[in-house]
Amino acid sequence: MKLYACVKCGMEFFERRAVCPTCRGEEFMEREAQLGEALVETQLFVTPAGFPEKYKISLIKVDGTKALVRRE
Ligand SMILES: [Zn+2]
Repeated sequence: MKLYACVKCGMEFFERRAVCPTCRGEEFMEREAQLGEALVETQLFVTPAGFPEKYKISLIKVDGTKALVRRE
């Protein structure tokens, strides 16, 4: 999984951002990170159009941030 770290303050995000909400920095460094432990897991039974009828989602710790991921 890719992480984006603010060059100015080091805050990490799992999505690309235009501006860092912490320091207003605009430069980010991309790096690979391993998925950590699942903090919360649940199964969705009502899903958006174009997605399977049901699937699991997990809130996962990824180094200095958290990510919401879909699991089959
Ligand atoms: Zn920053």
